[in-house]
Amino acid sequence: MNTTFNINNLVRANIKALKPYSSARDEFKGTADVFLDANENPFGELNRYPDPQQSKIKEKLSTIKSVETNQIFIGNGSDEVIDLAFRIFCEPGKDKVLTFTPTYGMYDVSANINNIEVIKQPLINDFQINLNQLQPYLDFEDVKIIFICSPNNPTGNTINTDDIEYILENFNGIVIVDEAYIDFSSQASFIKNINKYNNLIVSQTFSKAWGLAGVRVGVAYASEAIIALYNRVKPPYNVSTLNQEVVLERLNNQFEVSKNIETILSERTKLKDALNQLDIVKKIYPTDANFLLVEVDNADRIYQYLIDKKVIIRNRNTQVENCIRITVGTNQENKKLIEALKNI
Ligand SMILES: *Cc1c(COP(=O)(O)O)cnc(C)c1O
Repeated sequence: MNTTFNINNLVRANIKALKPYSSARDEFKGTADVFLDANENPFGELNRYPDPQQSKIKEKLSTIKSVETNQIFIGNGSDEVIDLAFRIFCEPGKDKVLTFTPTYGMYDVSANINNIEVIKQPLINDFQINLNQLQPYLDFEDVKIIFICSPNNPTGNTINTDDIEYILENFNGIVIVDEAYIDFSSQASFIKNINKYNNLIVSQTFSKAWGLAGVRVGVAYASEAIIALYNRVKPPYNVSTLNQEVVLERLNNQFEVSKNIETILSERTKLKDALNQLDIVKKIYPTDANFLLVEVDNADRIYQYLIDKKVIIRNRNTQVENCIRITVGTNQENKKLIEALKNI
């Protein structure tokens, strides 16, 4: 437990003073025969506003993840989980956040949109946090959020659990652990720690292992106090009825999801073995995600060559020298990639 953390010292004054929008669906939640309260059209199929609290999804996730429903926020993708954190905790033009690079690009973009400076600390020794270098920043009052992406994108590795816990214990701001790839990982989720650390936000998504990137639904797990702040600030109807239905259906089909994860993991091994046979491949970094970070002899050339072959990978040369990031696809897709690379 971090005993010096006080959420009231952290929340922006305008958010503390905010009187949240109270929708018709917030004010009357029961069942009735006639709804004439929200200026909806009485005709059609999607004529009613969605459940602003996404109660059915939260009940299901509460069982699956062993947390209370009031410890769950559902967002329009993880992007919304990230953006709302800036809006709740960071005073534009004044506060700062800290990230460990190379990492996911949205932290920077969201920070820039909110006019927040980003302090960047390089990951070291196969992409782990350098605690010595981080230490002074833990006491900076204007650093409000530390982002930890684990498994990290684009490097694929999980960040050491002890290091994350050290930061949670010793930093008086918010720690966001982005677990977009956790369902592919052999490591446990940090969700089990949301009762222990009141400054922890665990961010997950339906975009990767759950196969619903087109649906745009992300989830934050945190203390009741943090989730209450998210609910104050979010747009009232931030997740559409269609999106809620698709997510619920997928949550009721977990077997299918697990099967796909297993297939992706076994394809990952095959892809890694095949890549290792190629002369152009210098190193494949260990991964806990559904992608491989691969060092090649010339990342720019290989990226361009594959585009000509109509195979698109991610060139990460600007982040990690001569590295490409390859998402694990179907067996057929992976074979097509390998065939192309063999003929380079
Ligand atoms: C893909 C990804 C996400 C997912 O974002 P959504 O907005 O939920 O699609 C989040 N974090 C990281 C690090 C990712 O790579």
